[in-house]
Amino acid sequence: MLTRHLGAEGLTTLAGYQRVGGYQALRKALVMGPEAIIAEVKASGLRGRGGAGFPTATKWSFLPKGVFPRYLCVNADESEPGCFKDRFLMEEFPHQLLEGVLISAYALQVSHAFIYIRGEYRAQRELLEKAVAEVYAAGLAGQGILGRDWNCELIVHGGAGAYICGEETALLDSLEGLRGQPRLKPPFPAIKGLYGQPTVVNNVETLSNLPYIVSEGGAKYAEIGTESSPGSRLFCVSGHVERPGNYEVAMGKTTIRELLGMAGGVWRGRSLKAMQPGGGSMQILGPQHLDLPLDFKAVTDAGSALGAGALVIMDETTCLVNVSMRLVAFYQHESCGKCVPCREGTYFESELMHRLEAGLASAAELATLADICATMDGRCFCPLGDTATWFVMSAYKMFPQEFASHCGAGRCPVRAELEAVA
Ligand code: SF4
Repeated sequence: MLTRHLGAEGLTTLAGYQRVGGYQALRKALVMGPEAIIAEVKASGLRGRGGAGFPTATKWSFLPKGVFPRYLCVNADESEPGCFKDRFLMEEFPHQLLEGVLISAYALQVSHAFIYIRGEYRAQRELLEKAVAEVYAAGLAGQGILGRDWNCELIVHGGAGAYICGEETALLDSLEGLRGQPRLKPPFPAIKGLYGQPTVVNNVETLSNLPYIVSEGGAKYAEIGTESSPGSRLFCVSGHVERPGNYEVAMGKTTIRELLGMAGGVWRGRSLKAMQPGGGSMQILGPQHLDLPLDFKAVTDAGSALGAGALVIMDETTCLVNVSMRLVAFYQHESCGKCVPCREGTYFESELMHRLEAGLASAAELATLADICATMDGRCFCPLGDTATWFVMSAYKMFPQEFASHCGAGRCPVRAELEAVA
């Protein structure tokens, strides 16, 4: 559904998008009215594609009635390790996103919609800005949209390269010109968000589904997936695969094995050692989980989560201690420093992981690492601190021998073994 027009000529331009029926859903939405649009979104069962998977219509329903102005913020601060689907959607279908934003803005009766885009996505930002200029020129945004008594301004705002600004309240602080750090919740953004007003924050992929839902109906969208995971989803497949890339599949009806098959399987004829089904933050799964459906509940029940929809594959030569060290270093760098468990915890976690990877840590230090992770998990101000422990602990649990063999080894034993074989 999201990629149905892929390959059509000039799709990044307004003319090209209109040739494949673009903005017809917006015209239809303006006739339907806000209540009917929200009813279709509810019928579609659409769940957020940013990571938490929260039902979109429910999120919208938290906006207090009669309080204006209210805002819509599009979270395009895609920074999860292994995740590149929003980049693809903005590069290939910028107008599909803008149409989704305008439909949502009309349904929610917002006067300003902000697209907060990751700082490093400069080329994608330029593309979006060009597309926004086109919709203004065509009377699809701004004052009196399509001749109606409805005004909506579209603003593209670039971040400054901080992973934490993907957290919705840090995004709002950054957008207000403050240092991007998470806010205390409650109050949630729906009650007190941007500039203290009711605000909805939705992901790029989530809103890109709106044109299809409005034009085809929520029930048709829901049919594509399963009851707990309706619709389709774009999965980023990366790591040790033959054909890394974005793959759109029916949720709940496709297994991880099938998705991996679409990406050409594990590369170089090797076997699978571990994988992350939801990007760098999520717990690892093993080959025994390949037949799990890509369903929110099924993956959560298996001990991980679909998160941002990024399948990272690791072949048999991967050292899980090395991968853990690199991910922990990332989270240490991206910790915003607001709370002690994360600020100090990721520092010590990273120090210990570097010592362990180099074969310098003792068994007692490995126990300390587990203790630090247990102390951090559930005690951090926002999910970044918790997730900085999840991958490490799940890898340790699944490969205790691999972690233990690094203690006092003087170097990485996995790498040493590989070199010996070569
Ligand atoms: Fe900042 Fe980390 Fe605390 Fe989140 S958990 S508020 S990123 S220091």
